[in-house]
Parts: sequence; structure tokens; C-alpha cells
Amino acid sequence: MQFIKKINGNNSPTRVFVGGVHGKEGLATIEPLKQLSQMDVLNGELILFNCPESRYISTLDPDYYQTKMGQTIIKIIKKYKPEIYVELHCYKPSSYQKLINLNRKDEAGVPHS
Ligand SMILES: [Zn+2]
Repeated sequence: MQFIKKINGNNSPTRVFVGGVHGKEGLATIEPLKQLSQMDVLNGELILFNCPESRYISTLDPDYYQTKMGQTIIKIIKKYKPEIYVELHCYKPSSYQKLINLNRKDEAGVPHS
């Protein structure tokens, strides 16, 4: 089941945190998102969204935004117009070196962690 929650603070910024971007990641990201509360939002607002499972397609693939989840993310962004957008992803331990590779931006198109 999809999960969405809005936590209101004062003024800006608006933040959107999305879990379950693809594959089964949402099964792991739901609990950390559920634990966020009003105490974690001193300013602005926080919109949380999680999808437990969806088709796996890389978010770097332009076709991602044609998927149901990709379309959902676009709708959320258009609705809330966040200043800050964060995706929660899950990786296996063997991916760690790839994630911290200082050349990742040039090699994979995304910054290192
Ligand atoms: Zn991911």
C-alpha cells in the first residue's frame, strides 16, 4: 500500500522525500519515513511518499518517468513544488565502492555519496 503523509511546519522550505522509487526498495524505506514526525520539521513542510513495490527501472533511464511510479513522482512535484527533493534508495554492500567513486558523476551521471 502506498503511504503519503504531510507534516506542516512554518513557512518554507517545502521538502519531498520519496521512498520506493523502484523495485522493492519501498519495503525497506517505509519505516524510516513513518518515523519522521512533527518534531523533525522545525521550518517549512515535509511531504513523505512511499510505494512498497514497483517495476524496477533505473531513475537515470529517461523511460523511468513514463512508468506509473515516475508519473506519480512528477504529480507530487507539480503539486507541492518542493525546494528540496530527496529520494531514498537501497543498495547492496557490494555497491558501496561504486557509490563513493569520486568519478561517479562523469561515469554514471550522478554525484558520489
Ligand atoms: Zn533505487
